[in-house]
Amino acid sequence: MPARREPSRDDDADVIVVGAGPSGSSAAYYLAQAGLDVLLIEKSTFPREKVCGDGLTPRAVKSLVAMGIDVSEEAGWLRNKGLRVIGGGMRLELDWPELSSYPGYGLVRTRASLDEQLARRAQAAGAKLLEGTTVTGPLLGDDGRIIGVEIGTDHPERLHGSRRTYRARVVVAADGNSSRLSVAMGLRKRDDRPMGVAVRTYYTSPRHKDDYLESWLDLWDGKRLLPGYGWIFGMGDGTSNVGIGMLNTSTAFGNTDYKELLRRWLGSMPEEWGYTEENRTEPIRGAALPMGFNRTPHYHRGLLLAGDAAGLVNPFNGEGIAYAMESGEILARVAAQALARPTAAETERVLRGYPEVLQDTYGRYYTLGRVFVELIGRPKLMRYATARGMRHPQLMKFALKLLANLSDPRDGDASDRIISAMTRLAPASR
Ligand SMILES: Cc1cc2nc3c(=O)[nH]c(=O)nc-3n(C[C@H](O)[C@H](O)[C@H](O)COP(=O)(O)OP(=O)(O)OC[C@H]3O[C@@H](n4cnc5c(N)ncnc54)[C@H](O)[C@@H]3O)c2cc1C
Repeated sequence: MPARREPSRDDDADVIVVGAGPSGSSAAYYLAQAGLDVLLIEKSTFPREKVCGDGLTPRAVKSLVAMGIDVSEEAGWLRNKGLRVIGGGMRLELDWPELSSYPGYGLVRTRASLDEQLARRAQAAGAKLLEGTTVTGPLLGDDGRIIGVEIGTDHPERLHGSRRTYRARVVVAADGNSSRLSVAMGLRKRDDRPMGVAVRTYYTSPRHKDDYLESWLDLWDGKRLLPGYGWIFGMGDGTSNVGIGMLNTSTAFGNTDYKELLRRWLGSMPEEWGYTEENRTEPIRGAALPMGFNRTPHYHRGLLLAGDAAGLVNPFNGEGIAYAMESGEILARVAAQALARPTAAETERVLRGYPEVLQDTYGRYYTLGRVFVELIGRPKLMRYATARGMRHPQLMKFALKLLANLSDPRDGDASDRIISAMTRLAPASR
């Protein structure tokens, strides 16, 4: 077994984090807080757009609060009370559960603003942020381990002298769904894990101050049922973020014109909501959602994976920001312990424990999520479940807790105990 390289005078940092989205900035923040020298490398310059629904559940709010972000309404955040579910010809407003583990409200924020705030928090904690700097590949040691990164840049003035490589004791891939760095290290996406695709855009709308996130379980164009699911999230700034998504378990996945699908769905909406071409303020853009441990192993030859690079989107509800931030924190705690060990062999042993920690945290829940994704890929079953479930608000409250992964592990109510038991009984995702 090759031992990890000892720290050397050639290192530019203890840890290099590639990508300053929610996973990379959280990792950099917690690593810097632990006293490590951190280089956070981001190809774009802030503020930058990211294709997203911009919806934050109480789980994500908890991570934001932990990083010292001011989430007050005075600071421009729009709060929501819960989820409005529309399906089976019915409409239910389900409040976020009251729990000791998570706050009772969610938020919305454009990713341009959210991601910049997170990156600035990492900087304030001591991480060095290089923007406009693209990592083009890993720098490998003789034993094939990653010992740094190679970079290209549109802004040569930002390079330190004529430097084209940076070296560190550990490298983090937080470079999102495509994760070119992981691919270059031989880590590809897994075909046996769920994957979603979603498109979204913005419309000026009188519904922009909605205090519920709205989720559509079935989409109609007026007459016919369309494939996929939809959302409408009021942004509080005069616009709504509107989008649709589909899972790879759906037969329509891969052979659907998503933009056309969005237009057909919105064509059946009341005109006064304003979701028309004249009111569209942004192009319709799409991207993939890698779910349920879509890329493994999460540690490989000196490289740790976080967020979308690790395929951590929740298969139950398509939420990725909370899991990106949580994995950034988990990764940082493991790396800080690893780098404090006196020998390279011990450091390596601790780093190798990272996949196990992720497994303990999400593995069984994601196994349940994969079963769920298989079931909802069957339209008849889904229609039956929606029609039945929507008539039982108590059942839907339970579903909200399960799907949003919001329960109290200890001292919760009966539904928390059922979720805990279901999760304990599920096999871990390998
Ligand atoms: C249409 C859509 C809607 C969604 N809606 C929601 C939602 O409402 N709520 C929610 O919680 N989640 C949502 N998600 C999922 C969420 O967007 C992701 O899970 C989340 O962004 C993952 O964060 P990340 O930091 O891992 O990756 P990213 O946010 O993708 O960040 C990766 C960063 O790495 C940088 N980067 C990439 N390559 C390089 C390189 N070579 N060199 C340097 N930098 C690089 C990128 O510029 C980027 O800044 C949605 C996703 C999609 C596609």
